[in-house]
Amino acid sequence: METNGYDDRNRAFLQAFMARSTMTFEEAQPVLAAILSANQGTTVDPEGITHEDIGAFVDAANSAISPFDLEIRTTRRQDPKEANQDAPNTPPVLVYALVNTTSDPLTQLATTYSADEIAFVKRVLDFMFDTNNRRRCEGMVITQMQAVQLAKAGEDRRRSTNVGTQQEGGAAQNLTMTQAQDMMKSLVSEGWLEKSRKGYLSLTPRALMELRTWLVSTYNDDEEDGRRRRAPRIKFCAACKDIITVGQRCDDHECLGRLHDHCVRNFFRMQQAEKCPVCKEDWSGESFVGERAVEEASRVRPSTNVRQRTQDTPEADGDSGAPEDSEEEEG
Ligand SMILES: [Zn+2]
Ligand SMILES: [Zn+2]
Repeated sequence: METNGYDDRNRAFLQAFMARSTMTFEEAQPVLAAILSANQGTTVDPEGITHEDIGAFVDAANSAISPFDLEIRTTRRQDPKEANQDAPNTPPVLVYALVNTTSDPLTQLATTYSADEIAFVKRVLDFMFDTNNRRRCEGMVITQMQAVQLAKAGEDRRRSTNVGTQQEGGAAQNLTMTQAQDMMKSLVSEGWLEKSRKGYLSLTPRALMELRTWLVSTYNDDEEDGRRRRAPRIKFCAACKDIITVGQRCDDHECLGRLHDHCVRNFFRMQQAEKCPVCKEDWSGESFVGERAVEEASRVRPSTNVRQRTQDTPEADGDSGAPEDSEEEEG
């Protein structure tokens, strides 16, 4: 395919991204096919559009938009459900997203939301990546009910978990519960958060691509003399080196070995035995990161004040498996 020079086809491709902000490979195929069809006056088969075709348009778009601190990035969905359910060998869904390469999420939200709403979003992120991201249980998810409980601004939430929130301190006002609910809906509809079948809200692939740098600088301690004061909250897959919020972890909770579900197969294919990439102990594949960790933790330590739900309640709010870890402190 000829993509020398930046022309109407490139502009149309970029516009498609501006309108959607994120596209899977399967969604991008018909978009690019339509653009090429219109340009050439002949019908282009979407099925014939390859990764390389889209990659060429992404590269051209990136050259055009980099002065504006924008970039189309590529990632793979971390969750195993789509990839594994029916056809275990289906590769994970490839996602392209138009992301802002410099500003943090709180700055980006500033054009649409009030300071109090943005402070609420920060409390939600703190909950996901600090409160609900402990050595014993790396959930990195939040339920609707947990989010609504963060509507109040002033409360110190019993545990001093507000890492990096000093500057917003007492300034933020409470949201009402309805406002908090509406904010969560907006964050889902704008593609920052997505809701799982069991009702857990997590960052979307696009949000992770966009926020990776910010998450690391916000939730991981700086290294001092080559040593961190505590284990990093934001961790990376030993195989693909991308951020991991859904996947598998080493059985040793002190170990930083992590692998995406879709990276496990390829990673161990090249080894004689399934050993942790970091500590070299056996890899059971039964310790998890993400909502499976939360589900596991709630099974192991059933909380007396948690209502027991049947597992397959449709459209469950997902508030059942919520560990309110107050006893646990990272040392
Ligand atoms: Zn990986
Ligand atoms: Zn290990």
